[in-house]
Amino acid sequence: MRDVTTAQPLTELDVQPTPLALLLLGRDADPRSERGVECPGDLPAPSDPDLVARARAAKERLGDRVFVLGHHYQRDEVIQFADVTGDSFKLARDAADRPDAEYIVFCGVHFMAESADILTSRSQQVILPDLAAGCSMADMATAEQVAECWDVLTEAGAAEGTVPVSYMNSSADIKAFTGRHGGTICTSSNAERALNWAFGQGERVLFLPDQHLGRNTAVRDLGLSLDDCVVYDPHKPDGGLTAEQLRDAKMILWRGHCSVHGRFTLESVREVRERIPGVNVLVHPECRHEVVSAADQVGSTEYIIKALEAAPAGSKWAVGTELNLVRRLANRFAAEGKEIVFLDRTVCFCSTMNRIDLPHLVWTLESLADGNEVNRIRVDDETARYAQAALQQMLALP
Ligand code: SF4
Repeated sequence: MRDVTTAQPLTELDVQPTPLALLLLGRDADPRSERGVECPGDLPAPSDPDLVARARAAKERLGDRVFVLGHHYQRDEVIQFADVTGDSFKLARDAADRPDAEYIVFCGVHFMAESADILTSRSQQVILPDLAAGCSMADMATAEQVAECWDVLTEAGAAEGTVPVSYMNSSADIKAFTGRHGGTICTSSNAERALNWAFGQGERVLFLPDQHLGRNTAVRDLGLSLDDCVVYDPHKPDGGLTAEQLRDAKMILWRGHCSVHGRFTLESVREVRERIPGVNVLVHPECRHEVVSAADQVGSTEYIIKALEAAPAGSKWAVGTELNLVRRLANRFAAEGKEIVFLDRTVCFCSTMNRIDLPHLVWTLESLADGNEVNRIRVDDETARYAQAALQQMLALP
């Protein structure tokens, strides 16, 4: 359950969805959503020429009391202030390794800050510089929808023998559901191990919330067929599936996807191969199955970085992941003679991740340095306990 300590207590009346347009503008609140809670406070103007100096000064004032985490997909203007960079799970663990830091400022999105809160001590405060920085994929599986799905599985006689496996990119509620039902969390680096473990526990998997990572891992890594997978659509009665389909499936894939990685198409791959002869296509497993099948290499964000580090001089790469990261890697490796381009011709930032900008970071650091605790992300104890069980199961994967 989401609990933002700066927000007012919720009442029945509060629990009304906010129009999407307002959420995308970062206005108003949807307490059932990963995405929108109004970000209070007077932000400095983006045009303020002193923003960099102000961020540096506030960080110095805070000293060891603050630890700034920067996700790989963040803007350069924010990444320059990160004490560590990485993917969401690495960053949550980095935070857990700094028990002396009073404030963990998470430059990422809401579910990542929740995971950091779950893995750090209760006395530490995890801060999200813009509360409107959510994740559209995590929003595609709400606690109510997933509980209803489990009821549908139970009715169909399919719940027994089904093991939930939830991607790290999910809300604390979904992680807690997974822990309650004996499942595990996975990342894009260990999804194969997670599925192998789950098939040792039961006969089928409910994979949440990214259908593409679930399908790609099941088919590419475990050798299951596409026919072994069905897609549960939370917007259709009974998920749009018959009881027989649910019982016969090996993989029940939640109908969720990443709005960034889901944009790459087979046409993007064809076009770049024509445009850059000899190019290696390297994509993230959150991409659609046909894109992953047409790529030369597939792997997590950390895999992508390592593959490019190890690439020989003169090699050419088209990378299908978030644009901030691809640009940074292209600049970093240009001096080594590696040509790195973005897989698609259109711009493809993670818009919610991009909500964390320098004005929000300055406002956050200055507020904390002045003794004003802002934008704390807090997962309630019971949710945290079950979510932690699912995370611990991931750490114990063989
Ligand atoms: S890149 Fe995709 S999965 Fe990651 S935070 Fe953005 S929308 Fe969510």
